[in-house]
Amino acid sequence: MAFVRCTECQAEVSDQATKCAKCGYTIRKPRRSVFGKLVKWAFILFNVLMLVWLIAGMSAASSRPQPTSEAGKAGAAIGTALGSGLIIALWVAGDIILGLFVLFTRPRA
Ligand SMILES: [Zn+2]
Repeated sequence: MAFVRCTECQAEVSDQATKCAKCGYTIRKPRRSVFGKLVKWAFILFNVLMLVWLIAGMSAASSRPQPTSEAGKAGAAIGTALGSGLIIALWVAGDIILGLFVLFTRPRA
């Protein structure tokens, strides 16, 4: 185990430590692993994609030619509700799974 000097109090601290044992000064920030970074970016990207999908789905539903009959209107409304409900359900499920990965790959101090 190698030692480095604390820049604050000049005490010798292990280079594996993130904080000085004597004064508590943060020597180096705990870093995320490459996989951890990947998971974090996947999480951000996933949220952006789901948001785009939801907005695109909503605007596609509203720009669709409106059915003239009452039954047709009801059918379209149900279809839109089911579609956005499915997107939101997928979004929540994906967020939980990816969120857990983000949590587990969190840098340990
Ligand atoms: Zn120190």
